[in-house]
Amino acid sequence: METIKRMPVCRILTKQQRKWLNNNCCPICGLPKDEWKRRTDWTCCSTNCTEKYSEEVIFIWQYWKLKVFERDNYSCVKCGEKPTEKTYEGKIIPNTSKLIGDHIIPISIGGEEYNLDNVQTLCEKCNKVKTKEDFKKIALYRKQHKSQTKLNTKEVRNSSQP
Ligand SMILES: [Zn+2]
Ligand SMILES: [Zn+2]
Repeated sequence: METIKRMPVCRILTKQQRKWLNNNCCPICGLPKDEWKRRTDWTCCSTNCTEKYSEEVIFIWQYWKLKVFERDNYSCVKCGEKPTEKTYEGKIIPNTSKLIGDHIIPISIGGEEYNLDNVQTLCEKCNKVKTKEDFKKIALYRKQHKSQTKLNTKEVRNSSQP
């Protein structure tokens, strides 16, 4: 949840939502944290609101991913694979659905989620290898930071989404 607080929410949230967020309220429905029935270290007051909130996060992520793909010339930084597709007009264009925006340092072990320097373009094959490496790192990290294990489980899942 920490990473969500740090991301540039101001670009996507409405004025009202931003105000709520800055005033210790749920950014989606405006309920003050004192009245929450869940832990207040969450960003939103309920699973419903979190869902709505993460739709916005996913939206930003799509945008960020494209920025990274563009920077990396739509090619995998490990093996150079550059997936393409043909448009209706027969034009060859990069196939971004076959590319993965990968967090170099996984978010769950402290990597920055919304820092372009921490995101790289990978093909599906290289991403599989990288994910395995990440899980090893995460396991090691958890051994060293046992108390945080619960909090991180959710973030790991989110970060491995394409
Ligand atoms: Zn809410
Ligand atoms: Zn590759």
